[in-house]
Amino acid sequence: MGDSDFQVGIIGGGPAGSTMAAYLAKAGISCAVFEGQLFPRPHVGESLVPSSTRVFKDLNFLPQMEENKFPHKYGAVWTAAANSRAYEHDWEGLAADCKVDIRFAEREQVGVEQTYTYHVDRGKFDNLLLQHAHGFGAKVFEGISVSGVEFCEDGAAIKYSIGRKECSTKVDIVVDASGRKTLLGNQMKWRIKDPVFDQYAIHTWFEGYNRSTMAFKGNLDNYIFVHFLPITNSWIWQIPITASITSIGVVTQKRHFAARRESREQFFWDCISSRPELFTALKAAQQLRPLKEEGDYSYAMQQLAGDRLVLVGDAGRFVDPIFSTGVSIALNSSRFASADIIRALETGNFKREAFHNFESAIRRGTKNWYNFISVYYRLNVLFTAFILDPRYRLDVLKLLQGDVYEEQEPPVLARMRSMVNEVEQNPNHVWHKLLGDLTANAFCSAAA
Ligand SMILES: Cc1cc2nc3c(=O)[nH]c(=O)nc-3n(C[C@H](O)[C@H](O)[C@H](O)COP(=O)(O)OP(=O)(O)OC[C@H]3O[C@@H](n4cnc5c(N)ncnc54)[C@H](O)[C@@H]3O)c2cc1C
Repeated sequence: MGDSDFQVGIIGGGPAGSTMAAYLAKAGISCAVFEGQLFPRPHVGESLVPSSTRVFKDLNFLPQMEENKFPHKYGAVWTAAANSRAYEHDWEGLAADCKVDIRFAEREQVGVEQTYTYHVDRGKFDNLLLQHAHGFGAKVFEGISVSGVEFCEDGAAIKYSIGRKECSTKVDIVVDASGRKTLLGNQMKWRIKDPVFDQYAIHTWFEGYNRSTMAFKGNLDNYIFVHFLPITNSWIWQIPITASITSIGVVTQKRHFAARRESREQFFWDCISSRPELFTALKAAQQLRPLKEEGDYSYAMQQLAGDRLVLVGDAGRFVDPIFSTGVSIALNSSRFASADIIRALETGNFKREAFHNFESAIRRGTKNWYNFISVYYRLNVLFTAFILDPRYRLDVLKLLQGDVYEEQEPPVLARMRSMVNEVEQNPNHVWHKLLGDLTANAFCSAAA
């Protein structure tokens, strides 16, 4: 450790940063988290996928998830307007439908005993996870916004100010977990804006919204609902936060919002009104928070690690929240990276190659997510058809559960890709008119 203050300095105390701190502190590594805000603070990203459970289990965090009564999430539902013409045609035994659901319990997951995951109030969840890391011995400094990092031969200096005083803390390795601010991705000039996804979201919480309004059968309580809109590439999330509070968000392409020249309130309600039952039920509920926007959120990085440096969670990559993947990637990227960091500290090798296992696992996982999301936006109807078809259902569920890190390309994704190609190349295909306009080549991912 030489003259370093800590072995590892972590920028950001969201799920990626606090998970990293918990793994390291649990292994006896001295580490400090520098978090710009004072927790609890609100944050978007409230519905988890089951691969998060492995991390909670490793860190003995499951009891806290239960004690704090985060709603159990048993599965997911997708709905479209019943009159949508998209669902009229079948192809090669594949039949799409305007409503599908899937339950996590249908497929066993190695290392995950629970048949459910959670929806979370991120203010509460992030605070608990950060405190949990502190409980393992990680130092946590809140209200400290890092301005940059200076790297040198024998360490790195994390820079910040306290009042008017410029300060720095010396560490052996830096972890950037600063989320979509991507502090070090920007400093190193590694950030590449995604050429395809230019999504925009607008969201809030409602009290008293009747969540069964859009349910087409019983037993869908506490599922996440994704409601497709007739506007291209647009959808709404419906996420339970407590027994009576529901998070609602509209996701669309930024150009749709820009073109309308409306206030964001007007735009939000106009989008919702394209699903009239939902509109009526939400108007009968009480909006609890002002609408919040999220834009410009898709990018990749040229590299996820460098000498003495790793980028975890959103600081390393962000695509699109359609499959509720962000927090799981944040947790698992810290799971993989912490193992490499612990080894680097043992061997004294802090070169980029020491973080290779992490970098390759996360590149594989995010590439699979990216391709899955691309298919979804390119030919939405194929996604619901695959879920309904017993030949593919469990393979799609595996992706939805977040098990994406081991394979270069899961066979079900390759199959979807060849089907999309076929539809793209045949203008007379029954599904050709349904191709989304998000991308000319759905599989050419940025910095894959
Ligand atoms: C519209 C939308 C919907 C989403 N829906 C979902 C969902 O349903 N499920 C899901 O899993 N994910 C979802 N996500 C993604 C999810 O929000 C993120 O993937 C997740 O929060 C990533 O965690 P993180 O720790 O990497 O970053 P963050 O949670 O953003 O945490 C980063 C932390 O770093 C701090 N920070 C930033 N800069 C500095 C600095 N210079 N110094 C010190 N601290 C700093 C910030 O204050 C913040 O607390 C959604 C995202 C969007 C945009």
